[in-house]
Amino acid sequence: MKRRYFLKTAGAAGLSIPFINSCAGFSATGTENSINTTIPVSINTWNFQEAGSTAGKLLNEGKSALDAVQQGVMVEEANLENTTVGNGGTPDREGDVTLDACVMAPDGNCGSVAYLKNIEHPVAVARKVMEETPHVMLVGEGAYNFAIQQGFTSKNLLTENAEKEWEKWLKEKDYKPIINIENHDTIGMLAIDREGDIAGACTTSGLAYKMQGRVGDSPIIGSGLFLDNEVGGAVATGMGEEIIKNVSSFLVVELMRQGKNPQEACEIAIKRIVKNNSNYTDFQVALLAITKQGEVGSYCIHPGFTYVINMNGENKSIESGSYL
Ligand code: ASP
Repeated sequence: MKRRYFLKTAGAAGLSIPFINSCAGFSATGTENSINTTIPVSINTWNFQEAGSTAGKLLNEGKSALDAVQQGVMVEEANLENTTVGNGGTPDREGDVTLDACVMAPDGNCGSVAYLKNIEHPVAVARKVMEETPHVMLVGEGAYNFAIQQGFTSKNLLTENAEKEWEKWLKEKDYKPIINIENHDTIGMLAIDREGDIAGACTTSGLAYKMQGRVGDSPIIGSGLFLDNEVGGAVATGMGEEIIKNVSSFLVVELMRQGKNPQEACEIAIKRIVKNNSNYTDFQVALLAITKQGEVGSYCIHPGFTYVINMNGENKSIESGSYL
């Protein structure tokens, strides 16, 4: 089992984020592999640097963690180059771009949308669900109609490039829609603001060429995202079906509540998925967590999962330890 921890991209000035480059065996009781950060801080999945900078800037201006995570992930929802989140996302098998997103606030309130079409910023709609409705989750047409009522505009989210790729995919008759580790890139973000409060957001276009109607873990509270303002938070990316089956973000937060540090918690939760799947080498799942004190940990099945920490006005990109 390889464990790799190293800074991938450093900002201009060196940050004093301690990191470990260790080949030592994992100790379930050790705390040596968590990363200590200072508050305010944001963390986000994958190499979404601009999302991290946007959230960090807002946190340093004194904005709330909830505003920071929403604005942070919205950068990727609007990014046409990113084919896994928001506008420009890869469509389902029928050629429809359908989006899933959620937000969670420090008071435990949350909002979510799933199978939402033609709205560029599902995370903003999720926040409206949280703030303007008695519900937690709206899906499909209901979510779309609600978004329009709230003043969002309808927009075609299928870019020319994504359409071309989908057409190519349609022609590949022998294509098996198994999930490979390349097409995962959901953005999940957690932030702790100056007040010490934690909030989170998660947004995705889901798996490439998924079946029509498929919803992944990202909008499911407890699966793609969970937090507790007394403990900390966790976000997930990768094969949503396995994350849902194991309620992974909730599990990580509950493990931290019981005293595990975020690194240990993520490792235990990933090993639970591995234990429950003989075919775990066929898919990727990555978990990222932070405690209320700013301690960060992450773990994944396949090597290659990176995440961004923003603090003191700078991003650090870090490669997660992995089971394989
Ligand atoms: N977790 C997402 C889903 O299953 C995929 C991803 O992380 O890209 O929809």
